[in-house]
Amino acid sequence: MSEVKIPYKIYLSENEIPTAWYNLRADMKNKPAPLLNPGTGQPLTAEEMSGIFCEELVKQELDNDTAYYPIPQEIQDFYKMYRPSPLVRAYCLEEKLGTPAKIYYKFEGNNTSGSHKLNSAAAQAYYAKQQGLKGVTTETGAGQWGTALSMACSYYNLDCKVFMVKISYEQKPFRREVMRTYGASVTPSPSTETAVGKKILAEHPGTTGSLGCAISEAVEVAVSNPGYRYVLGSVLNQVLLHQSVIGLEAKAALDKYGVKPDIIIGCAGGGSNLGGLIAPFMGEKLRGEADYRIIAVEPASCPSFTRGKFAYDFCDTGMICPLAKMYTLGSGFIPSPNHAGGLRFHGMSTILSQLYHDGYMEARAVEQTSVFEAAEIFARVEGILPAPESSHAIKAAIDEALKCKETGEEKTILFGLTGTGYFDLMAYQQFNDGTMTDYIPTDEDLAKGFAGLPQVPGQD
Ligand SMILES: *Cc1c(COP(=O)(O)O)cnc(C)c1O
Repeated sequence: MSEVKIPYKIYLSENEIPTAWYNLRADMKNKPAPLLNPGTGQPLTAEEMSGIFCEELVKQELDNDTAYYPIPQEIQDFYKMYRPSPLVRAYCLEEKLGTPAKIYYKFEGNNTSGSHKLNSAAAQAYYAKQQGLKGVTTETGAGQWGTALSMACSYYNLDCKVFMVKISYEQKPFRREVMRTYGASVTPSPSTETAVGKKILAEHPGTTGSLGCAISEAVEVAVSNPGYRYVLGSVLNQVLLHQSVIGLEAKAALDKYGVKPDIIIGCAGGGSNLGGLIAPFMGEKLRGEADYRIIAVEPASCPSFTRGKFAYDFCDTGMICPLAKMYTLGSGFIPSPNHAGGLRFHGMSTILSQLYHDGYMEARAVEQTSVFEAAEIFARVEGILPAPESSHAIKAAIDEALKCKETGEEKTILFGLTGTGYFDLMAYQQFNDGTMTDYIPTDEDLAKGFAGLPQVPGQD
């Protein structure tokens, strides 16, 4: 058999961009638990949801059965601005590590927002426009989601209002200015523009904010202004659906060369890139057609999967959002201030939570200094300056490749490289100066978050 040399980059052609998203839920025997109305404890109806979210997105959110959603032509056209994204064979990293493992990564940082988040922003802004809305509101932490959404909103001519976690607003002024350049208005959260923001400020004067708190503010503004809806960049089923484009492209590229990954790795904040990357592979696994090891990687300072509880919880600090059944640290949990690497949401996608609970995937937590060490190894040989979030996946991929070096196994590893780190250079500076520290929350720290979990009838 003649060996086909696999190129450094496997590109698909423009007309190989997927024309339908894949809905993983269709193949799950145990469906993700429904969102609940926090007032009644009953599953949220489409009608209740449509006050918060766009109609088409409500449909997608609730649909556990339709396997494929055709991607509207307008969104396909948007995708063509920056997709297909390359699938890279990390020959240089393999050589550097001296591993017999074959490492591939799917690179999603090749657009101005710098991350995979544009895949869902393009879809959500499109549906908002279709519905005739004036604009959308959202929250952003480090700013990737807000940037992606502001790009999509300017494309579709929609108003975009972003609540940005205060500490990021102050420490990451560059991404804030990208958002403003694309026409978004950006408010540091908690703010005095909302009732919930004022309440949080009164209870926690001087707080630097959290994602959960910014979500509360964005939702309040959406539901109290006609013509506005709220959009979210991760966690929700609809977001994982849109992000399936990552996995579908990755699989199509690997299939061209007959390559089947043994291990698939992704960082996990709210679960959207990981859910998207693994979608078609997990589908095969659920249908019993193939088997893959799937690993979610999270920060040791915000360990939702590895130390969280699988329970109904609020998605926001203000406790005005629906309840989601997920691995959670409690909606009051805020990672320690020395945590620089993103992935700071207290909860996790309900789809991934159910799959993890049912044993279809693994999770591990890694400390941030080891994440930046991995980022540096990667940057020096593969050229790309990775986002700290993505570097959690790099860390696990390197660890798995080094295990192969010990055992001599030639495993094929695929990981998601979700974005670039140009706006994270303060964190790189701390690492380079040797001032970066690790903090692993104690059980007592976590107990405070768990104590705030809501009582839901019928749940233990
Ligand atoms: C937002 C973000 C993540 C984490 O979000 P998920 O929903 O878990 O994918 C990871 N990497 C980058 C670059 C991001 O911007």
